[in-house]
Amino acid sequence: MNDRPIVTDARYVLCWLQQALRARDNPVIDAAVRLGNALGLPVLVYHGVREDYPYASDRLHQFILGASRDLAAGCRERGLACVRHVDRDGHREKGLVYRLGADAAALVLEDQPTFVARWQSERVASRITIPVYAVDAACLVPPTVLGDGIAGRSGFLGRHEPARAAWIDAEDEQAKIAPYDAALPFTPDSLDGDLDALIATLDIDHSLPPSPAFPAGRGAAEARLQRLIRDVLPGYATTRNDATRREGASGLSPYLHFGVLGPREVMRAVAAAQSGGGGGGKGGGQVGARHATKFADELLGWREWFQYQARGLAAPERYDRVAGWARATLADHADDPRPDIESLASLLRGETRDQSWNACQRQFLRFGWMHNNLRMYWAKRIIAMTPDPETAWATACYLNDRLSLDGRDPSTYGNIAAMFGGAPGDCERPVYGRVATRGDGSTRARDGGDAWLARAASRPVPAVTVPADVPRERYLRD
Ligand SMILES: Cc1cc2nc3c(=O)[nH]c(=O)nc-3n(C[C@H](O)[C@H](O)[C@H](O)COP(=O)(O)OP(=O)(O)OC[C@H]3O[C@@H](n4cnc5c(N)ncnc54)[C@H](O)[C@@H]3O)c2cc1C
Repeated sequence: MNDRPIVTDARYVLCWLQQALRARDNPVIDAAVRLGNALGLPVLVYHGVREDYPYASDRLHQFILGASRDLAAGCRERGLACVRHVDRDGHREKGLVYRLGADAAALVLEDQPTFVARWQSERVASRITIPVYAVDAACLVPPTVLGDGIAGRSGFLGRHEPARAAWIDAEDEQAKIAPYDAALPFTPDSLDGDLDALIATLDIDHSLPPSPAFPAGRGAAEARLQRLIRDVLPGYATTRNDATRREGASGLSPYLHFGVLGPREVMRAVAAAQSGGGGGGKGGGQVGARHATKFADELLGWREWFQYQARGLAAPERYDRVAGWARATLADHADDPRPDIESLASLLRGETRDQSWNACQRQFLRFGWMHNNLRMYWAKRIIAMTPDPETAWATACYLNDRLSLDGRDPSTYGNIAAMFGGAPGDCERPVYGRVATRGDGSTRARDGGDAWLARAASRPVPAVTVPADVPRERYLRD
């Protein structure tokens, strides 16, 4: 990311993780270990969390710190030192990456296309005096190997699908140098104590509690992966659209977003289930190709396409990424009467006049996750429930980013953009213009759908704080 030379009289290679919070199957760590082995230096893995990143809350901090605890344990197991810092009153450490970098031969960090990780990496690379290498850990196929300028998903798949086989079998790099245990410019946090007690002392949003459905940490991620193989994958192509079914979808997205699991590990488990190994299917048999192919299309074909797209955008989270024709038609209808408009408080707390929308929003509020099928209805309806298209965009991004464990992701902005644009509808409608609308029929028409929506719309949710306005600038860019 810069043109600095490798430092020869260094103590270690610094590996700074922001989001890829796993010790194994992590290309960022592997690149650092390979470089360390070549230079005869140990690797020092560093993970730090501040209080002032956008949407910092008990929910996000708990998920992140639980993952970080297991990251350090996993690093120890593979012979690497891993140090953490939780920035807080009485424990402020300014410029820690730079200070750690002062003893490093080079810095290896994550190649992340959205949110704080992107801007922090770019800023550090432009200021630090050591070389900085960015390595992708979010995708199976690193987007950079696909080349620039792919305009559509079919062109993307044309390059991505043939490349997959070359990336599925990589093994962890073995560290040849003993773990670093010498001087550090700060006292690391252990995170082995009571995380809830630590989080309670922080200056973050305490009105949004941790998710009861998505526990933090590697063990929970592995349990989700086993559940995918055992209960979800055998019927995935037919059940994935049914929001009323508990086992229709994997629920892996929070763990993928924070890198507790990587797509390579998930796809290896899917391939094993398909070939009859790995306990696939309720009876331990093979998983049908149709289901495995559909799952791969979501995890690789869609998720990695949005990762690729985000890389080509200066600000993937901005409204100007929505297709030009869609912004134009929405602008043409910006002054239309909007009888469905709702206050930010009603939206945020899932207390609107639309029961189905409340059911969606309350899934976000309570669990920090929403079913894909509900997300489509939820995003489309926000266009009619807000005063103008740009506020609709800001509101959808805000709700998704603040509440959802998997928010702030290339898939967040890519999918919301698809709901605001996508394929044009067949006629011109009030408020939406030529942007296609979407009803709640795909859930309501299910067996028991009405009752499910009524229950979901009235489930108890935390009383989150409501800002005066929807935040529009959400990134720490300076
Ligand atoms: C308006 C809207 C907003 C969304 N916001 C997010 C978001 O903030 N973060 C996020 O990760 N996904 C987002 N998605 C995509 C999708 O809804 C979620 O990834 C999925 O619901 C997560 O649940 P799951 O892990 O059970 O999915 P599964 O059906 O089990 O799919 C397995 C994995 O495939 C990937 N995947 C599935 N569907 C999609 C998709 N449409 N686009 C990209 N990847 C997909 C995810 O990584 C997912 O974990 C959004 C979709 C819409 C329509």
